[in-house]
Amino acid sequence: LSERLSGVFDRLTKQGALSEDDVKTALREVRVALLEADVSLPVARDFIKRVQDQATGQAVTKSVTPGQQVVKIVHDALIDVLRGEGEPGALKVDAPPAPILMVGLQGGGKTTTTAKLAKRLKDRDGKKILMASLDVNRPAAMEQLAILGMQIGVDTLPIVKGEDPVAIAKRAKTQASLGGYDVYMLDTAGRLSIDEELMAQVEAIRDVANPRETLLVVDGLTGQDAVHTAENFDERIGITGVVLTRMDGDGRGGAALSMRAVTGKPIKFVGLGEKMDALETFEPERIAGRILGMGDIVSLVEKAQETLEAEQAERMMKRMAKGQFNMNDLKMQLEQMLKMGGMEGMMGMMPGMGKMAKQIEESGFDDKVLKRQIAMIQSMTKKERANPQILQASRKKRIAAGSGMDVSDLNKLLKMHRQMADMMKKLGKGKGGMMKKAMQA
Ligand code: GDP
Ligand code: MG
Repeated sequence: LSERLSGVFDRLTKQGALSEDDVKTALREVRVALLEADVSLPVARDFIKRVQDQATGQAVTKSVTPGQQVVKIVHDALIDVLRGEGEPGALKVDAPPAPILMVGLQGGGKTTTTAKLAKRLKDRDGKKILMASLDVNRPAAMEQLAILGMQIGVDTLPIVKGEDPVAIAKRAKTQASLGGYDVYMLDTAGRLSIDEELMAQVEAIRDVANPRETLLVVDGLTGQDAVHTAENFDERIGITGVVLTRMDGDGRGGAALSMRAVTGKPIKFVGLGEKMDALETFEPERIAGRILGMGDIVSLVEKAQETLEAEQAERMMKRMAKGQFNMNDLKMQLEQMLKMGGMEGMMGMMPGMGKMAKQIEESGFDDKVLKRQIAMIQSMTKKERANPQILQASRKKRIAAGSGMDVSDLNKLLKMHRQMADMMKKLGKGKGGMMKKAMQA
């Protein structure tokens, strides 16, 4: 019986693998979509190449076409690239007064974003903020920040005519210390394009303020140019994050991918309008969907995967209720753990399994170990998986070596399986079996 069942598992999980041709064909469309979304050409090319290597050979989910599967893989890869390290939208504003330096080209949205961020820090985190405009090129720019400050109830540094940007930065720093501010924000001048004078000025301001955060504010609609801007600012000034503005427009936001690929720095916020509360934490999932513009296909594949997983889980529950638990079942558990990032979450939900999950986890589990354990089970024959007792010493050696593990590691895995199988038996047997109860509930 278990032989037959394991056959079913194999058929369900292996609907054939993606061939190089499948992947290439699908990626041609993806490439067009990326370019239409204004992702920069070299970035799109690199990304496609990476996905191509990654996707070839991957399994196709039941009831999904290879092309659809590739789109889903692309979607997930996009999210991966877009997601930076650390918590989205987090800013380092400890050690008051913490300086935040806002940089970017003219018209990108620096002044607006400075005020939006100040409002957010004030409202959400209760910070006391001082804003200073360093834009001496355009007198109206300083007024603009002062007016926004009044609107949102945030202080701005008094304007002194004829002062240069570095002097203003120094004054802001002093004022922030004396005035007991938590954060002071420096809104710099921009140019229509990158030039040496601008860069030298921003550099001098940076050296005076020694900012905790240096945020590059980029118009999300600029597409190809955004890459050049980001490269320059990051190399010369060293940014800590990006804010993409005008994401309320029609653009598909490909600049987000370009920014991430070129700077490696996190996109922290997106601007969604001119109003002071039109600033949101960057969400990779949302932007990925928008860049790709293939949301229907992605959700179709996700549904198919969910259905398949639900079917597998139900089948396993039924087997467990009968007290059955073979190496295939263990493999599925390990795969789930890999996906869910930990054993406790997965097994903690099952009656009586929480404690064991904890023990297993404490005995030093990580992704690498999990992957190797799965590999060991994969290199067993069907018979061995159904009935691991038949494994001879020589076979054990081969299986362990093939996965880069020792025989002792394999023995540990087998022991874990035995313990779990015993547990299943206890849980499943008898009318009052816990699993049966759990399933009836
Ligand atoms: P700066 O030159 O970099 O300081 O740019 P500004 O902050 O002065 O912004 C230039 C223009 O873009 C202003 O009219 C803003 O109202 C507008 N703007 C800024 N951010 C956004 C945004 O997220 N969405 C929209 N629709 N407009 C924005
Ligand atoms: Mg400005």
